[in-house]
Amino acid sequence: ESELIARRDEVLGASYRLQYRRPVHFVRGEGMWLYDPDGRAYLDFYNNVPSLGHCHPEVTAAMAEQAARISANTRYLEPKLVDYAERLVDTFPNELDRVVFTCTGSESNDLALRIARFASGNEGVIVSNYAYHGTSAATAAVSPNLGDAVKLSPFVRMVQLPGPAGVPESQAAEFFEAQIRSAITDLNRRGIGVAALLIDSIFSSDGVWVDPPGFIAGGVAAVREAGGLVIADEVQPGFGRTGEHMWGFERHGIVPDLATLGKPMGNGFPIGAVVGRRAPMDQFGATSRYSNTFAGNTVGIATADAVLTILQRDQIPEKALAMSQRLRAGLEKLAMLPYGISGIRNAGLFFGIDLGLDGTTPASRRSMALNVVNAMRDDGVLVSTTGANEDTLKVRPPLVCQAEHVDQFLAAMERALIKIAG
Ligand code: PMP
Repeated sequence: ESELIARRDEVLGASYRLQYRRPVHFVRGEGMWLYDPDGRAYLDFYNNVPSLGHCHPEVTAAMAEQAARISANTRYLEPKLVDYAERLVDTFPNELDRVVFTCTGSESNDLALRIARFASGNEGVIVSNYAYHGTSAATAAVSPNLGDAVKLSPFVRMVQLPGPAGVPESQAAEFFEAQIRSAITDLNRRGIGVAALLIDSIFSSDGVWVDPPGFIAGGVAAVREAGGLVIADEVQPGFGRTGEHMWGFERHGIVPDLATLGKPMGNGFPIGAVVGRRAPMDQFGATSRYSNTFAGNTVGIATADAVLTILQRDQIPEKALAMSQRLRAGLEKLAMLPYGISGIRNAGLFFGIDLGLDGTTPASRRSMALNVVNAMRDDGVLVSTTGANEDTLKVRPPLVCQAEHVDQFLAAMERALIKIAG
């Protein structure tokens, strides 16, 4: 194992990080479970990409069947491409009725930024303080989460979120709107103008700040007033993750101009999309070509089509919402014990759980969270951390998790907390 790690470091270099102090090697996935070469099972409470469960047999069958028949691009007539596109836009509010396919969430955000800049004639982009939006040059430049390694572009303005700033929920909307208005004022004063507000409505990398629902609405309106477009980054909250709705922005009662999709869209197959209002999408499309070799290819579409069918047919978001309530209730019980759970936030099956014993420093909270993640891994349960101080557990199991899995997770979490903080 240590020899493999050394060879890996040698050939892949520093930007490839391994998860966990004792890295894991998985050879098979099924439903909620991942298996190592010795056949040990790990309960996956971390991966939101395979939201229908690892290697869902209907999804892999659709993928394999299409791959064995033909893998072709969007320049040929393909009924399934059109059928899927229609079904996908049908899951959005009526105003959003155009779709362009991509291969990743980063490409979706990259394209959305191009459309927003084109349609608005402005350059400025507003993001949350610790956002992550992607890996391309343009999206990395609007991802403060990447830290000092990425010099934020002069066109970007970061806004503080009410939650991490300690603002009470009753003043959250007002606080957020004021932050947005001052970013707009500054962008306008410098002649940059606002092209877009780009937000992940559950603020996953900021530490999962989901409440109160609707707190972003005033800021959204301010951006529109200033001539900017609103881009909902649905890579994390989309496709039913939040339970009550298919799309995260619906929880806030807003309708964006563009929505960017990725991760769970292909349950593991790389496919994404931008879904948007007709006017900006057509304005862009008529003038500037978007050709993406692999995006919307027949294999990706067959896979995504199977995913959407199963998601709707099996009422996956509704079931996930019920599981999220069970998980929340269990966590609230754990939080009453003196184990250092200091906050629980969730929208559906996306949880942020703050860790830290009373009166401890940020450094010790961060190391506690890391210790808990590693203790749970050793116990066979996968989770990770998020937030600016990395002291929030990030818990987002596949949406197909059942009561028994929730209970197993809670038991493992309690064991880890007793070990680390008890
Ligand atoms: N937006 C958000 C909110 C994300 O979390 C991510 C990936 N973590 C991306 C965009 C980028 O997606 P991808 O890695 O598929 O390019």
